[in-house]
Amino acid sequence: MNYQITGWCAHLIRQHVKKGDLCIDATMGNGNDTLLLSQLCGDTGCVLAFDIQEMALANTKERLEKEHAAHNYELFLDSHVNMGNYAEPMSVSCIVFNFGYLPGGNHKLATRPESSILALSTSLSLLKKDGILMLCIYSGGDSGFQERDALLGWLKELDSKKYLVIKTEYYNRPNNPPMPVLVVKL
Ligand code: SAM
Repeated sequence: MNYQITGWCAHLIRQHVKKGDLCIDATMGNGNDTLLLSQLCGDTGCVLAFDIQEMALANTKERLEKEHAAHNYELFLDSHVNMGNYAEPMSVSCIVFNFGYLPGGNHKLATRPESSILALSTSLSLLKKDGILMLCIYSGGDSGFQERDALLGWLKELDSKKYLVIKTEYYNRPNNPPMPVLVVKL
């Protein structure tokens, strides 16, 4: 078992995604989650991946090709706010958000609270029953706490009859470690 934060998120994603599933990577970045989702959903599934930076698309394409990923993905240079234009309601098994900025890229092009919450609201409508959102929320450093606090406030208000929200903390780790949050559509 890999107890790194990304490893923990990947572990939860693996429990849920099956061959043939439709999945979304809402923050493509360097393509780590796109690759994982591509491997899990297989030849009969599909991954839609979004980012607002050309560099993210280039890095992800290179990563997927290097790993000989199945041709089961589409990479979009578009904001995750628009993901509802690319998938039907109640059709998606897993949507991954890794908030913050592209490692090695422009820190100013980080996710923002208002657009992140809009995209999360759309995500909920795209998820099928038992589908999940896997969120990794960053705070401190460049990004401050504004986005984390806005996201946690929004998550707290989700109807508990419709959604299960499990927030994980790396409790004794210093320097505001990223916070994995799992949302299950009941
Ligand atoms: N999961 C990625 C990986 O495996 O490398 C890391 C993602 S990185 C922490 C966050 C990414 O979100 C950046 O590449 C950034 O460009 C992207 N981003 C910021 N705002 C966005 C938006 N509105 N829509 C889609 N992507 C966005």
